Amino acid sequence: MRLLDNAREAMRRDRVFGFVAENRYPFIQGRHAIDHDSVDLSHGTVLYVENVTVSFDGFKALNDLTLYIDAGELRCIIGPNGAGKTTMMDVITGKTRPDTGKVYFGQHMDLTRMTEYEIATAGIGRKFQKPTVFPWHSVFENLELAMRTDKQVWPTLFAKLSGAQRDRIEEVMVLIGLQEQSRLQAAYLSHGQKQWLEIGMLLMQDPHLLLVDEPVAGMTHQEMDKTAELLMGLAGKHSVVVVEHDMDFVRSIANKVTVLHEGHVLAEGSMQSVQTDPRVIEVYLGE
Ligand code: ADP
Ligand code: MG
Repeated sequence: MRLLDNAREAMRRDRVFGFVAENRYPFIQGRHAIDHDSVDLSHGTVLYVENVTVSFDGFKALNDLTLYIDAGELRCIIGPNGAGKTTMMDVITGKTRPDTGKVYFGQHMDLTRMTEYEIATAGIGRKFQKPTVFPWHSVFENLELAMRTDKQVWPTLFAKLSGAQRDRIEEVMVLIGLQEQSRLQAAYLSHGQKQWLEIGMLLMQDPHLLLVDEPVAGMTHQEMDKTAELLMGLAGKHSVVVVEHDMDFVRSIANKVTVLHEGHVLAEGSMQSVQTDPRVIEVYLGE
């Protein structure tokens, strides 16, 4: 029976890629669906980072960092190497604990007191630089595996997809521009397509907040344009925080930009305003 075989194969892969299931796709463990009701966005702010400091052996990777992300906003975070961008993402996702400061998801959820798993299931999705799709599953199956369910995940592999679930997968495939690759194994996608598939997998969980670390590294210009379009299309429904090095890409998104430097916000505003800010110019020239 094909469904059973698929499920068996998926289980085997889960063992093979155990590290993936544990760290990156908590939903694969299948114990909880995202609990969307618990995040309170009534004040219009999805993320509060206030006076956060993180030290590594006395060196402050984040130094009194304060920033706020609006619900539905698309924010770009830029800054030279070592500015603290990745550390900031680590703090938001619970990988790193701040020494001091507050990190709240909506009004009430204190992220500094939650595990990585709890944070992910609360509705914060993180896309790492390196795509981690299941290579020997098709695009469709990758999205199916990533789907948020109200019940346990494993039993759903034995069950037929409902019409609504199928529609949702189709919808995400259109969004990420891979509908024609639906049956293609992920191993055969281009680098850019794999990145989009992974964004699609995050979308299957319907996260409130999506953190994306350097999405266009290694992409062609054409792929970069498509990625900009995709991320801009997600804003509104989701809040998206993009950390990116590529200035042309950030310019093409043309939204509010936060410039980090030495673990602190150096400037914030439109791309136009930050790129003419003398402090920003100085920091980038010194790189
Ligand atoms: P960015 O992503 O902006 O390039 P990071 O957040 O990766 O910056 O790093 C900020 C600073 O903290 C860097 O100087 C980096 O060397 C240091 N750092 C990051 N993680 C660690 C760690 N686990 N141990 C020691 N130093 C670290
Ligand atoms: Mg980094």
